[in-house]
Amino acid sequence: MQIGCHVSISGSIDKSVDNAVERKCTAFQIFTRNPRGWFAKPLTDEDISNFKSKLKKSGIDRMATCAHMPYLPNLATPKQDGFEKSVKTLISEVERCAELGIPYLVTHLGSHLGSGEEAGIKKLVEGLTKAGQTKNDVVILLENTAGQKNSVGSDFKQLAEIFNQLKPAKKFGICLDTCHAFVSGYDFRKKADVKKVFDEFEKHIGIKNLKILHLNDAKGEIGCNLDRHYHLGLGGIGEEGISEVVKIANKNKIPIILETPIDDERDDFGNIQKAKDLA
Ligand code: MN
Ligand code: MN
Ligand code: ZN
Repeated sequence: MQIGCHVSISGSIDKSVDNAVERKCTAFQIFTRNPRGWFAKPLTDEDISNFKSKLKKSGIDRMATCAHMPYLPNLATPKQDGFEKSVKTLISEVERCAELGIPYLVTHLGSHLGSGEEAGIKKLVEGLTKAGQTKNDVVILLENTAGQKNSVGSDFKQLAEIFNQLKPAKKFGICLDTCHAFVSGYDFRKKADVKKVFDEFEKHIGIKNLKILHLNDAKGEIGCNLDRHYHLGLGGIGEEGISEVVKIANKNKIPIILETPIDDERDDFGNIQKAKDLA
């Protein structure tokens, strides 16, 4: 079982490995820089070698690590300057992953800001294709969305429509977020429902393209389109569904990453333990 959570890089990027080890992670996710700004300081040789040597020593499989794009880029925007900035950031993040030896970069699909799904998807495909041209082995993972207003890629059919346009195909994969899928209408509550959701995923996209699973319960109810993550088993999905998702991920050797909250109820340690118990 490869499981862990999003960990902080506060202090220096190699600290993320310490944070992962402390939480007994066998998989983890990071931001390669501050996710709330456009600017990223280049990685130094020291940053890179410290990260790599700590990761090697940790025993965590490099292939069970991923980075997440910062929040500001919007690849589906109709505004040309914003689009160009977003693509530049995406390419820069792909290159930072390559430098760090991180195989996967998770990206959101953006908002078309009212220009319509067709226009949004066109920009998105254009931007992703540009980033797919970089010469490295980093795979860009499209994360299914919660179905908020003006978003694209919450249903598997549309996600497949976007994914199938991307070339070269080996540079792209999918990150499935269980909270996002649930709040956009996919039922994960009963064991049989979870099976149906994964059958649907297999039919449209293919499990072999699923490289990372974001395992989050949802604060809201099914179909509410509210992107609020919650502690495993305590949200709208519940224990039965989360348990079945974990089993399917394990069977298919897909690394599981938690993006659950930290509060009085539970922290990362508690949620990782919960996932292991439910496995
Ligand atoms: Mn995300
Ligand atoms: Mn996610
Ligand atoms: Zn989310």
